[in-house]
Amino acid sequence: MFSERISLVKESFEKKAVSIDIPTEKASEIFGELVFDREKMRKYLRSDTLKALLDCIDNGEPLDRATADDVAKGIKEWALEHHVTHVSHWFQPLTEGTAEKHDSLIEYNGKGGVIESFDGKSLVQQEPDASSFPSGGIRATFEARGYTAWDPTSPVFIQADTLCIPTVFVAYTGEALDYKTPFKRSLQAISDAATPICRLFDPKVNKVITYLGWEQEYFLVDEALYAARPDLMITGRTLMGHMSSKNQQLDDHFFGAIPSRVAAFMRELEVEGLRLGIPLKTRHNEVAPNQFEMAPIYSEANLANDQNQLIMNIMNQIARKHGFVVLLHEKPFKGVSGSGKHNNWSLGTDTGVSLMAPGKDAKGNLQFVTFFVNVLAAVQKYNSLLKASIASATNAPRLGGNEAPPSIVSAFLGKTMTDVLRKLIDLPSGTPIQIAGKKGRDIGLVEIPEIFIDNTDRNRTSPFAFTGNRFEFRAVGSSANCAGAMTTLNAAVADQLNQFKKDLDAELNSGKELSVAIMDVLKPIIASIIDVVCFDGNGYSEQWHSEAQKRGLDTKTSTPEMFKAFTEPESIKMFTRTGVFSETELFARNEVKWEVYCKKIQIESRVIARMALNHIVPAAIEYKTALLKELSLHKEVFGSMDGCTTEMELVSHIAALVEEIRVKVNKMMEDRKQANAIPDVYQRAVAYNDIAEDINELRKPIDYLEEVVDNRIWPLPKYRELLFIS
Ligand code: ADP
Ligand code: MG
Repeated sequence: MFSERISLVKESFEKKAVSIDIPTEKASEIFGELVFDREKMRKYLRSDTLKALLDCIDNGEPLDRATADDVAKGIKEWALEHHVTHVSHWFQPLTEGTAEKHDSLIEYNGKGGVIESFDGKSLVQQEPDASSFPSGGIRATFEARGYTAWDPTSPVFIQADTLCIPTVFVAYTGEALDYKTPFKRSLQAISDAATPICRLFDPKVNKVITYLGWEQEYFLVDEALYAARPDLMITGRTLMGHMSSKNQQLDDHFFGAIPSRVAAFMRELEVEGLRLGIPLKTRHNEVAPNQFEMAPIYSEANLANDQNQLIMNIMNQIARKHGFVVLLHEKPFKGVSGSGKHNNWSLGTDTGVSLMAPGKDAKGNLQFVTFFVNVLAAVQKYNSLLKASIASATNAPRLGGNEAPPSIVSAFLGKTMTDVLRKLIDLPSGTPIQIAGKKGRDIGLVEIPEIFIDNTDRNRTSPFAFTGNRFEFRAVGSSANCAGAMTTLNAAVADQLNQFKKDLDAELNSGKELSVAIMDVLKPIIASIIDVVCFDGNGYSEQWHSEAQKRGLDTKTSTPEMFKAFTEPESIKMFTRTGVFSETELFARNEVKWEVYCKKIQIESRVIARMALNHIVPAAIEYKTALLKELSLHKEVFGSMDGCTTEMELVSHIAALVEEIRVKVNKMMEDRKQANAIPDVYQRAVAYNDIAEDINELRKPIDYLEEVVDNRIWPLPKYRELLFIS
């Protein structure tokens, strides 16, 4: 029997790029076409309605019902011009991805017919049946009610025939059931904490804005080959597969020419993204074969994250038109790079000053250093928590893997800023921080060279790297909702800034001048972090692990244990102080995380066992049978087994590997049975962490078999076939 695989591979190789209708308009003309942005607001809303809505968006002023009705009227007029027939609240429950429930716009008109109707009430609030979304016990099923509420800070948009309204999703008792609610709280917490500090430098500052620029990595595989891999289809990653002889060792994929089929997909995705107001800017090949990246221009964090969720949704729809499937899993292939989603994060004032970039003068630099140091202090203090914020069943195999940041959260500063911080510790009280006009000119002051941004060295191995005007949180997984990591980072930084402000006020009250008081508070902080969380070396090295342990950083590698950081007393205090999470929410969310963890590993475990028994063992036995037949023929013809060493060795090798599979499948099933009997969800997740190891173990004999079994009967597309698109 010939494996069907061979013809699939040939077919996929012969596929050509499909031609797409590229709009003749310029990007600037199609940008935001499908978004009810400020331009549309001006066009479709009365001036008093517009003013009230902008006041609500920019200053958080409440919107009354009559105004909401007027806003809805304007949106409806615009939507009908785009042939919209349905409306949906669009939200981000604790399952990955987004949720929507479409309602048609029709209402009876009282004369036996229907009209298109959309009012303020349907804009502002809906009650989806929430009982089947995870809530971690906040909402027992008999009290299934939760509601979605409009988030006016993220604009309404159109997808196909549906008007989508970005919303938060909360229980009737007020607890958040989604990613967006705590994220928005954390953005408020940052602004509340940072604004009073900024006002010391410039009294005109009224709020501080968090910015996010995400870089989305992903793999593309041919859809026919994908369909022949049950593991990819069901778990999003390959659970077996021998490494290809060539993968990324030649570094020839990174920034290489984009294959034409892929380029056609990217162009269509970009056009769709632009129409949805997503300012997609960068596209390129990534490190691994078939791995790619896209990134927009950064924007306000809540909007940026909604746009990331949206693009993740539409990627696969567009990919299918081109015969691809997008893999957003963090580690689809063993032995090649995984996919991350770098979260470029920075803060800026409403007066247009970045708080994460050196300033124009001594004062500006003092402000920059103040925020810079406090961010690092937060990253150190809430080290375990930040790691927990990026932990997941799917990110686990990536962390510590090839080309991924390790599961230790340290911060990379680069030489310039490390030198600045070291100098600051020894600085006599009251010395100004100055920008040096030329690099290297040292007049005894602390200097930040002007050419700083171009100057920052790159360190790909750091999970949290300063890159000149922002921090890049690189440990975030490609399939994650950025809000998980960003909420935690914001809350930690806000809390640290509040503490800093308290200490600073005490210094100021004792009569010190501002810059003296600031440095007096900052210096001990710098001394306590510079040799702990700050690390510019190679994060992939063996030594770093033991060094980090010595420094007191969190080096845990078990995902279920990492989640525990969220419910440690210090974390609960921090999150409640900043108003980002209540204690109930923290416990509930951890329950969801452990539950999801167990389920994901359980599914992987079932899939690999079935594939082992239904695909791999039969192929191995088929080959073994062919060999045995040949041996017996040989004996019949020649009367002895002389000259049959290869076949005989193969037969016993295959028999041994098949036996190993049987033993390992049985062990894994037994472990699963025991794990399932554990009532406590945390303990069960810990047990499932061992089953993740069983899966790795079971993979080994399977991957050996792939090496020895006749290529023509191997049933699954191999890595070399999945990973190279022509
Ligand atoms: P690289 O791969 O070199 O890190 P990219 O251009 O791929 O850079 O992505 C960088 C991302 O960081 C982009 O989304 C960019 O808009 C964003 N970014 C740049 N400056 C800032 C900033 N000050 N704050 C937040 N994000 C930023
Ligand atoms: Mg980057």
